[in-house]
Amino acid sequence: MTLAIHGGTPVRQTPYPDWPQFGVEEENALLRSLHQGQWWRMQGRENLDFEQAFAQLHGGHSAFAVSNGTVALEIALQAAGIGPGDEVIVPAFTFISTSMACQRIGATAIAVDVLADTLCIDPAAVLASIGPRTRAIIAVHMAGHLCDMHSLARIADQHRLVIIQDAAHAHGARGLGDTGIGEYGSLACFSFQNFKLMTAGEGGLVLCPNEELREKVFLYGNVGRPLGDRSYQHTVVGTNARLSEFSAAVLSAQLGRLEQQTRVRQHNAHLLGETLVRQGLVTPQVRTADAHTHPYYMFLFTLDDLPGQPQLDRNQVVDCLVAEGIPAFRAYQALYRIPSYWQAPAPTRQNLEQCIAACPVSERMAQRGIWIHHRALLGTEQDTLDIAAAIAKVHQHLVGAQ
Ligand SMILES: *Cc1c(COP(=O)(O)O)cnc(C)c1O
Repeated sequence: MTLAIHGGTPVRQTPYPDWPQFGVEEENALLRSLHQGQWWRMQGRENLDFEQAFAQLHGGHSAFAVSNGTVALEIALQAAGIGPGDEVIVPAFTFISTSMACQRIGATAIAVDVLADTLCIDPAAVLASIGPRTRAIIAVHMAGHLCDMHSLARIADQHRLVIIQDAAHAHGARGLGDTGIGEYGSLACFSFQNFKLMTAGEGGLVLCPNEELREKVFLYGNVGRPLGDRSYQHTVVGTNARLSEFSAAVLSAQLGRLEQQTRVRQHNAHLLGETLVRQGLVTPQVRTADAHTHPYYMFLFTLDDLPGQPQLDRNQVVDCLVAEGIPAFRAYQALYRIPSYWQAPAPTRQNLEQCIAACPVSERMAQRGIWIHHRALLGTEQDTLDIAAAIAKVHQHLVGAQ
């Protein structure tokens, strides 16, 4: 059983399911939107219908579909009143958009560590980082696992902070007590980029908890112009973040697949998690009661350091897994290790050394973390167990080679 990277037979002889997936529903949706004759939201129904269905599924009041998840965050921050000079606390372990959106609107992102089990933002670290200019917290539901929303809400109430949910990984996720993302009373931002759990190639959405915020989100995403305006009344400095009717139509069809796919992913992720824990070579993201429904955008884990064994090179492990036919990736870099994080407006209350010292979990994820694409969880149980088999094979070979 030579490693596939060295010319051996890969664990996977057949590929995992493709992503994105589509069928006659998406084809019909595209034709439906085409035949509307008007292809933007102001004269079509596709955005409105999709927003309503998406808001309903997530227990939100309403929604505004936008061109991508990054701009969704920018608009949500602006609608929440965040701007130049304000600080926003974000998890250090996330995709760059979480912090870059803050910078784009003139606010400063302050990175704090995540919890070692769920890999979601650590409420104690949030509390410790609050300063006189702190105005908001971005709660990233990592890989689809909801944050500890109760602790964050308590902190936000005490310190008069706004919570924005970054739900780019969390389509259809539900929290403690079966609570929908829209029921937490805060704006939530989604992405429909090609990798995400529902996609139109690109796209995003801001889920709104009330009419007042929906109107502000609409304004900021519609070049500052109120609905129905005919006299060029641009009341705020916004941007054009509107989504085309084609994309909205595809997303309506994609939404129809979400719940069934989430059931399959949860089933297979549970099986994989149990198998990996028994195997004892890696530690998967822990699922707590905060993840009542976990849609598994990623299956995330870290390589264990086993006593008496050499430490494996994470990047080499990922390359070997890919050769075995497993869609594996390196986990995110900690934000403060990325050059743009230190560009204007850069944090002044922390430096790189302090960030590293304060964020051991994010450091560990960046060095030892691996994630598996959710499409690998959409197959059979045997398909899923092949992931564990590939990890065991790669581990055995690399340890033996040292
Ligand atoms: C994908 C992603 C985004 C941004 O979404 P885009 O649609 O790619 O702009 C934001 N936050 C997180 C955590 C993401 O993974």
